[in-house]
Amino acid sequence: MNLLRRTKIVVTLGPSLDDPAMLERVIQNGAAIFRANFSHGEMSTHENRIQMVRDIAAKHEKTVAILIDLQGPKIRIGRFKNKKITIREGQPFVLDTELDEKEGNDQTVSLAYKNLPRDVRPGDTLLLDDGRIVLNVIKTELTQIHCQVVVGGELSDNKGINRLGGGLSAAALTDKDRKDIKEAVRLNADYIAVSFPRSADDIKEARILLKAAGGQPGIIAKIERSEAVTNIDEIIQAADAVMIARGDLGVEIGDAELPAVQKKIIKVARVFNKPVITATQMLESMTLSTIPTRAEVSDVANAVLDGTDAVMLSGETAVGLYPDKAVAAMDRICLSAEKHRSIHSIRQFKDSHIKHVDEAIAMATMYTANHLDIKAIIALTESGTTTLLMSRINSNIPVYGLSRHEATLRLMTLYRGVYPIPFDATHIDRRVLNQAAILELQQRGILKNGDLVIITKGDLIGVHGRTNSMKIVTVGDFPDYPGVTL
Ligand code: PGA
Ligand code: MN
Repeated sequence: MNLLRRTKIVVTLGPSLDDPAMLERVIQNGAAIFRANFSHGEMSTHENRIQMVRDIAAKHEKTVAILIDLQGPKIRIGRFKNKKITIREGQPFVLDTELDEKEGNDQTVSLAYKNLPRDVRPGDTLLLDDGRIVLNVIKTELTQIHCQVVVGGELSDNKGINRLGGGLSAAALTDKDRKDIKEAVRLNADYIAVSFPRSADDIKEARILLKAAGGQPGIIAKIERSEAVTNIDEIIQAADAVMIARGDLGVEIGDAELPAVQKKIIKVARVFNKPVITATQMLESMTLSTIPTRAEVSDVANAVLDGTDAVMLSGETAVGLYPDKAVAAMDRICLSAEKHRSIHSIRQFKDSHIKHVDEAIAMATMYTANHLDIKAIIALTESGTTTLLMSRINSNIPVYGLSRHEATLRLMTLYRGVYPIPFDATHIDRRVLNQAAILELQQRGILKNGDLVIITKGDLIGVHGRTNSMKIVTVGDFPDYPGVTL
């Protein structure tokens, strides 16, 4: 693994990563963020997996983050008497909220979400199993939706349902999610993903619940509903990060819309200084294969060129045969794509007004770094905000985020081009702080004498949001302070 890959890799935990040797290889190959998908599995299973990630990461002295992904109001059909059925084009099929949960057959199946018959209208298109089965709504009754099969095929237990165009009324946070938010805080999650938010209010509600539970993980808004694309600005502003959840989103807006919408979301997220994860089917064929397809290689590379902070693996690592190889493939594809500077300049310096001093320092640092022969940026940071602001600017200079807070170090694992390093500045004499920070990087083999670096910090060490200085320093070129030794 190359330390200088800028794009971060998110992997989804699951049975395939329950083998400690496999998980260890995945961590060594460069995965930095581990997603526990609360749509599946027991709490004790999630807890054991998270513990194993933390143990192995600690053994290798790697900073990794835990992302807990809430299930959200995914609407699903019930089960079939014989586990699966085959339905044919043209035949009638009924979704029934009153039918017994496990009594489905090739004419009808149950539906847990009681409001669906009220939410849909004749003429609507319902997509089952990520769009593999297509139903046309003929008529609705209080508890039944009568459909005609447009595209048939095999249908098995508990598959998801989406409406083309979106607009279903289900609230983003279910009762299960409310309980899971408390669990996420108990498990000390670094990020929590809210599934199917419709507006900023859904994100704000999650934040209130998190606060009440006593935690403050970063909130990731999963963009997977049609309405979320419409309300993208307010959702991104309310959240700490976004995920382009292409699985459900592609079903709701149509797969052909995805590439352009992905570019738009990444751009808007950067404008609002928020990191972005591009997710789902990135290396899908590697669930069963040791190598990706050319199309998948292109997809990952294009997400990098679009400016994504992170790329995500789902089934590839959760249930796939080759999680380690999938991570290694992402690593090399990202590295190659990063050699080619993105074609569009993501932020304009000229007509954007800067509101905060730390943002001014971050912008000045990146401008200087990109135009002077700077080897590295060293940001002494409490909350990680300065490094996030820096990472919004295109650059190939590494940003080392030095912090004494473990939670801050773990948040920074998501930011493109930012590398977290544990460092406690509070007990170091101010006069030799720059030297101490540089020494830390020299000891890690990152810097050598003669390298030019930029150091940013605040006047008050240990205080959030107060970065107000940048200094350009040559490594090894320090005056001696009498009586101060390092
Ligand atoms: P999921 O979200 O894997 O939780 O469904 C991602 C997506 O919909 O793409
Ligand atoms: Mn989804």
